[in-house]
Amino acid sequence: MNPERHAKILIIGSGPAGYTAAIYSARANLKPLLIEGLQPGGQMTITTDVENYPGFADVIQGPWLMEQMRAQAQHVGTEIVSDIITHVDLKHRPFRCVGDSGTIYWTESLIICTGAQARWLGLESEQRLRGGGVSACATCDGFFFRGKEIIVVGGGDSAIEEGIFLTRFATSVTVIHRRDKLRAGQTLQDRAFANEKMRFIWNSMVERIEGGDSVEGVHLRNVETGEASVLETQGVFIFIGHDPNNQIFSGQLETTSDGYLVVDKHMMTSVPGVFAAGEIMDPIYRQVATSVGQGAGAGMMAGRWLEEHESLPQSITITTA
Ligand code: NAP
Repeated sequence: MNPERHAKILIIGSGPAGYTAAIYSARANLKPLLIEGLQPGGQMTITTDVENYPGFADVIQGPWLMEQMRAQAQHVGTEIVSDIITHVDLKHRPFRCVGDSGTIYWTESLIICTGAQARWLGLESEQRLRGGGVSACATCDGFFFRGKEIIVVGGGDSAIEEGIFLTRFATSVTVIHRRDKLRAGQTLQDRAFANEKMRFIWNSMVERIEGGDSVEGVHLRNVETGEASVLETQGVFIFIGHDPNNQIFSGQLETTSDGYLVVDKHMMTSVPGVFAAGEIMDPIYRQVATSVGQGAGAGMMAGRWLEEHESLPQSITITTA
């Protein structure tokens, strides 16, 4: 028989939102279980310098910050479980979540902090050459591009920040952006324009990535003129945004047209007792600082909700509005 666990609060996800929700609910003596998922620590474990998280005058490292949050969550009483939730049933309370390990988790309330994951261009050549010079993680793969010429696709904070990071290894980093203006913040833009290894190709899209076992070049199309060109390169880094990790909740919770979970001002989703925080519900801010704030709110509100609903029978059916 599959092992079963029971919790008052189950938190899915171990990014800044998940750890903070855990810290708040553990300090309310609710003994949360946090299921850490496929990428313990979340997206911050594959970023480098963090300069905008308040409280640190000097630059800190993303993986270090996540280690600290994890340790803090454990110190105050969170049990962190190494498992991946593959199914959830939110029709009845307690809610039922099934782990990849086979464990069944029953919980009175749920906080979803599953975050988001990197978006890809959707090209056949891109998938074929992943691991052969196509990447969405500069921290993981930058080292392999020492002395090489590479491109970065995208014009947001990620593309520019990671592009600058990649200049530590590559001889040149060419940013391919579909418009003639970067979306990235001004400070990052200034640093990128001042970096002599950074180049820019504007109004252009990557149509195909060339190469057998490894990347040899990209076919570009100028979206203004329609002109096609080929650029030799040995690496393609793609930073074109993120999609929310919502697959296991499909059809059970209200989402926006982009797939982000809809929450009310108490961080509660369309199912009472189910809360969400971080990039799974936030298509706008997506900062460690904002995810931490949302996680704190969800942790507090889940606790209050439990207090108010403690008298509910265990098997009550929750109707989705
Ligand atoms: P983003 O801000 O959504 O930017 C995505 C970029 O990719 C945009 O420039 C977009 O072009 C481009 N793009 C989207 N789809 C594309 C496609 N199919 N083909 C080509 N280009 C495409 O995503 P992000 O850079 O990952 O940032 C996500 C969030 O995290 C943002 O809120 C950002 O501020 C934050 N962030 C902050 C920091 C920091 O503060 N240090 C670092 C990283 C990320 P358009 O500009 O034309 O839309």
